[in-house]
Amino acid sequence: MSDTLTRFDTRDLRAYVDILTLPSQERVPQAFGKTKVTRSIELPPLLTQLEDAIRSTMNPGKTAGSRMSSQMIPLDSDALYRFALISNAIQDWCRLAGIDRKHPVDGLRAWHAVTLAWTGYDPTWHVEQLRGWVSLIRSKVDPPRTLELTITCPTCTAGVWVNADGDTVPHPLVVQYRPDGVGSILTHATARCRACAAEWRGEMALRSLRWGTEEGEQS
Ligand SMILES: [Zn+2]
Repeated sequence: MSDTLTRFDTRDLRAYVDILTLPSQERVPQAFGKTKVTRSIELPPLLTQLEDAIRSTMNPGKTAGSRMSSQMIPLDSDALYRFALISNAIQDWCRLAGIDRKHPVDGLRAWHAVTLAWTGYDPTWHVEQLRGWVSLIRSKVDPPRTLELTITCPTCTAGVWVNADGDTVPHPLVVQYRPDGVGSILTHATARCRACAAEWRGEMALRSLRWGTEEGEQS
């Protein structure tokens, strides 16, 4: 797959505009022994998540890694910078399309509505920008999700592993994935056995673990 040759169409444009500007239903696969359940949770639009992150530094709940929680930082300047960068670009797009909107979520939606009337419009360049913003925001607000599988490891057959505290605990297999609403969540997922360090990367490999058959389908 060469990214430089990829052309995008208006469906891709809509998909990325929606990811950035609409709340999303995320299907969270959960495996309990023999039972597999898919639960839906609603997430705010990605742009809103980034805006929220500007002021969420004091709440170390979802952020990956160890932040100095005792240190009171009023603003996350990195989130602020990313949000300003994207907001300014959307404002430029709106200005060129003759739209005046204050907030980038409204702006991007209004701009997209205008593009629907453009004949012969090739959205490739805009889709590339939107994709870039999606990964820029994701790397900030969306650390990979983790799911423990309750099956034994097909490589070492272990059903337990030793954690950082030295305790022997069940479920050595763990999957990390990033839901992005486009394509299968399994495409960029990685499974790892914490007993033998075996790894499975990508959709085919993960399907071979007999997990995610339904979860991988995009509705
Ligand atoms: Zn193993």
